[in-house]
Amino acid sequence: MNLNELTIKQANEGLKKKEFSSVELTQVCLDNIEKTDEKLKAFITVTKDEALAKAKKVDDAENFENPLSGIPVGIKDIFCTKDIKTTAASKILENYTPPYSSTAVKNLGDDAVIVGKTNMDEFACGSSTETSYFGQTKNPWDLERVPGGSSGGSTASVSADQCIYALGTDTGGSIRQPASLTGVVGLKPTYGRVSRYGVIAMASSLDQVGPVTKTVEDAAIVLKQIASLDKKDSTIVNKDVPDYVNEINKDIKGLKIGIPKEYFIEGIDPEVEKVVKQAIDQLKDLGAEIVDVSLPHTKYGLPVYYIIMPSELSSNLARYDGIRYGSVEPAENLLDQYLKTKATGFGDEVRRRIMVGTYSLSAGYYDAYYLKAQKVRTLIKKDFENVFKQVDCLVTPTTPTPAFKLGEKIEDPITMYLNDVFTVTANIAGLPGVSLPCGMAKPKDGEKELPVGLQIIGKQFDEGTILRVGHQYQQATDWHTKKPNVD
Ligand code: GLN
Repeated sequence: MNLNELTIKQANEGLKKKEFSSVELTQVCLDNIEKTDEKLKAFITVTKDEALAKAKKVDDAENFENPLSGIPVGIKDIFCTKDIKTTAASKILENYTPPYSSTAVKNLGDDAVIVGKTNMDEFACGSSTETSYFGQTKNPWDLERVPGGSSGGSTASVSADQCIYALGTDTGGSIRQPASLTGVVGLKPTYGRVSRYGVIAMASSLDQVGPVTKTVEDAAIVLKQIASLDKKDSTIVNKDVPDYVNEINKDIKGLKIGIPKEYFIEGIDPEVEKVVKQAIDQLKDLGAEIVDVSLPHTKYGLPVYYIIMPSELSSNLARYDGIRYGSVEPAENLLDQYLKTKATGFGDEVRRRIMVGTYSLSAGYYDAYYLKAQKVRTLIKKDFENVFKQVDCLVTPTTPTPAFKLGEKIEDPITMYLNDVFTVTANIAGLPGVSLPCGMAKPKDGEKELPVGLQIIGKQFDEGTILRVGHQYQQATDWHTKKPNVD
């Protein structure tokens, strides 16, 4: 096995036992980036020299107590990283280098080896990584297909073993959906679990930070490190961070797993449905009790999300006016300068959302759209509260289809948005969700088999249970060990 194919756990053990050095491990990842990234475009910035210098420092210190020390990581280009360019994949931030690092990045520890900043949809607006100003990321399993989005660079880089793990953000599915499409593990923690300080805001009542890893166990390791109290993020909830790695080793006998009927709808690819149902049978074999449940307001998830998200986005993006933040397009007067700066600095999808958001927040339409969406949001939350009186967690497909072709949906926003149908509800209700590979399926329009993701949604702050179910599943199956062949 090549060093870059290791998991965090394996790499940490190898470093401790001095089987290899962090410099060697980092070099193998960097070599693989050099070999494959022209095709994949998973990175916007590669920090080769800084990574090797850090790895050397870690080797010299010989302290691998922090399980992430000396381990190469890719950081979505939405996290501020001190002295490393941070673009949010937008032209408007093309030349922005932050003077500080986000709390989540800092929490990885001083000895984390950042190999680069990963590609994404512009300001995290998208489900395919095609809206990046810096070129689209390709799916390592089939270069003609999208890796999902918006954290598509993070998931493609982990899937192709360019780094050992990555960080992403999830506002409506942006960690889980691309994890599903590229065959890796993606965890969105509970809203309020991980600090968002220093993460470029998309929609502040939905955004959450999480890991992209090769195994559920690695996701547990990273979550333990990045979850912390942070006075700089007022939405952080003051709750102990459990030892997730301990929790996941308990078996799942007698655990009640709900299967919401609204997530097996018309339009779901029959192969995806078959694979997910097999995974559910497997969970039953492991001793879980499978319970049919209903979340009746699920059908309003997408409309609610696509009103609340653009509303918050439009107000968050107001700061990129070329004066406070962002590159500037000079003009005769201030208004023209704003107009020119925003018209040239933002891409089509971001501008579309700013317009939708501004409209739904405007005086005449606020009650009919934004306020109404907030009320329905409460109903969706209550659906979950009700079923969680009955079951310990829920299992669903992560996406209705495997990876789709590049260019297939980009001109048709509604079809693109439908991809998020199973993921947005966890953000709306602030719940934790994880996606893990659970099989392969042939797409309707192709011959190559593609990964399928299983989503597990949990109660607030109960990441322990969903990680436990995922880990026990991975102990009994080997879907997570399948690798793409990037050639
Ligand atoms: N795909 C969703 C969107 O385009 C989710 C984005 C995200 O989670 N950042 O809004």
